[in-house]
Amino acid sequence: MSIINKKGNKNQNLAMVIVGDRCIGCDACYAACKTDWDVLPVKEAYRTKVWDIEGEDNFGNPTIRFLPVLCNHCDNPPCVDVCPTGASFKRDEDGIVLVNSDMCIGCKACMVACPYDARYYDETKASVDKCTFCLPRLNNGLEPACVVTCVGESRNFGDLNDPDSNVAKMMKNATSITRLKEDKGTLPNVYYITINY
Ligand code: SF4
Ligand code: SF4
Repeated sequence: MSIINKKGNKNQNLAMVIVGDRCIGCDACYAACKTDWDVLPVKEAYRTKVWDIEGEDNFGNPTIRFLPVLCNHCDNPPCVDVCPTGASFKRDEDGIVLVNSDMCIGCKACMVACPYDARYYDETKASVDKCTFCLPRLNNGLEPACVVTCVGESRNFGDLNDPDSNVAKMMKNATSITRLKEDKGTLPNVYYITINY
């Protein structure tokens, strides 16, 4: 059964909720995504990746934490606003931001406009490409590849408009909630939370 509108709800708010301290930086999500979607085998091309964030603890010892990133499927997406052909668009029914490769002229305006570096140009398709929240998998009743391969259960996916969804419950129980570059006004649908265990 499709994950999209599975309760007949045409007003979904699909989102990813990431529990930051559960990510162990194993890159299983990155590998699964690259393979599933035939992402170009160059480091500049990715639909998701995991940043290593180096720091220091209170005693001056080096620390490292991991930050999974992907397209935020923003509610106010500048990539859509700047697209001259309508190739980049946001679906009304669930909020997924997509690129219609048939309409893309490769001007890369969207790549410049995206504050998250979430897009890449695929020469083989002559189109910009990016994360689709694994739409073809959702249509087959499967969660995104990065979610099912996440060994730490850091990545979680679902409909925030459904109070019974796992992500809605996690957001309700979160002790902190942040989104990336909130100052840009993009209203991302990828949330980073902490929860009490
Ligand atoms: S993260 Fe970038 S590509 Fe994705 S919707 Fe937001 S602005 Fe567009
Ligand atoms: S590169 Fe393609 S999707 Fe991006 S703005 Fe240009 S036409 Fe639109």
